[in-house]
Amino acid sequence: MTVDALVFRRVRAVDSASDAADVDVVVERGRISRVGRDAAGDLLRAERARVIDVAGAWLLPGLVDLHVHLREPGEEYKEDLASGLSAAAAGGFSDVCCMPNTKPVNDTRAVTEMLVSKAAGLGGTRLHPIGAITVGQKGEALTEMADLREAGAVAVSDDGRCVTSSAVMRRALEYARTFDLPVVQHAEDHALTHGAQMHEGAVSSRLGLRGWPRVAEDVIVARDVLLAEATGARYHVAHVSTFGAVRILREAKARGLPVTAEATPHHLLLTDAAMLGYDTGCKVNPPLREDADVAALRAALADGTIDCIATDHATHSSLEKDCELAAASPGMVGLELCVAMLLGLVHDGVVPLGRFVDALTAAPARVVGLATPSLRAGARADLALVDPAAAPIIDPTRFRSKGRNTPFAGKKGRGRVLATLVGGRFVHEDLGGAPGKAAPRRARRSSPPRCPATRRC
Ligand SMILES: [Zn+2]
Repeated sequence: MTVDALVFRRVRAVDSASDAADVDVVVERGRISRVGRDAAGDLLRAERARVIDVAGAWLLPGLVDLHVHLREPGEEYKEDLASGLSAAAAGGFSDVCCMPNTKPVNDTRAVTEMLVSKAAGLGGTRLHPIGAITVGQKGEALTEMADLREAGAVAVSDDGRCVTSSAVMRRALEYARTFDLPVVQHAEDHALTHGAQMHEGAVSSRLGLRGWPRVAEDVIVARDVLLAEATGARYHVAHVSTFGAVRILREAKARGLPVTAEATPHHLLLTDAAMLGYDTGCKVNPPLREDADVAALRAALADGTIDCIATDHATHSSLEKDCELAAASPGMVGLELCVAMLLGLVHDGVVPLGRFVDALTAAPARVVGLATPSLRAGARADLALVDPAAAPIIDPTRFRSKGRNTPFAGKKGRGRVLATLVGGRFVHEDLGGAPGKAAPRRARRSSPPRCPATRRC
């Protein structure tokens, strides 16, 4: 039997512009063809249609991640395009942007083209490379941004390294502006973080570890905002971690500057207290901060000062993590636990659902110039189906990523990605039903949902 229509039956359909309960969303020929209450009509009994009917499910546009490290080329033992994009699909992502700190660095047309063509051949989650700002990420000579852009780069960044020279940053902003490329900064004044293992504060004193002070991030963000204002270029701050950076960004946005920012799941959920056991799994750059920073990041995500959620998915093998803290590489995986771990913020009323969806779809798409993810009729069928009531235990042994490095292992999630579609095609499916058949409709829960988000709001 050929199935040429897909019906998501009575879902809550949420995109950055709308939130509709109990609607049918129909996908035909790779696009959303109908949306509305009982819109599927006669298709529900049609031979040619597959009906997916999961009580209480949410349908979102495919998620967009501005910040992943897929390790190819050069460190395929940690991750490669196939495993990384498969992990992205399992996490609900239809589009991801990969950082250039590979070996060799993606500072040329050749590397960008290789990434684009190889990812296209895999046919799953789409890949959008981010090229380097400077040759070899050395912070000196600018890359050929015109070449990078032509080859498919959607932004430039020296992520992992900060562009610390004000002169180089100014020229980078001016040059990138010519090609309408956003400049993504890893904000860290390296002179202030030399030898740092974690956030500088009471916990680092107690553990006797050298600290990474907040101000090392804040001084760079403050300077860059001034440079963005002077040049008129688009400036994006990667993985914001401090309340000071939030304050600077809020002020910059109030003045209408073309400045955007992202926060990661781990900075939104964890503090430096997680380092108390000298856990290398919690070593990350920038480091986990304190309660006041987490509160500021959450408020900034809720009010849009922080535009996007980005995972900073950074895999390491046990070689880089099962060692003493000083020798351990910073980074955590994020793609396959982002939705499960962060939906708690929605369920607990910290971040409105619409803002949460915007931060994972339209906002990041806007930063790098992708088409706005949407559930309107006519839109490309890039979709993520989510069960907001699921409570999965995070089990890294089941990750599609090669990385297992996460402090969330064994923690209970507050939602699950059931399926991901790219252009109307399943790239991930965990529906519990046989492929090609309708998944069984589960009984509606009789007890009232405990979170405001699962009520129809
Ligand atoms: Zn970074």
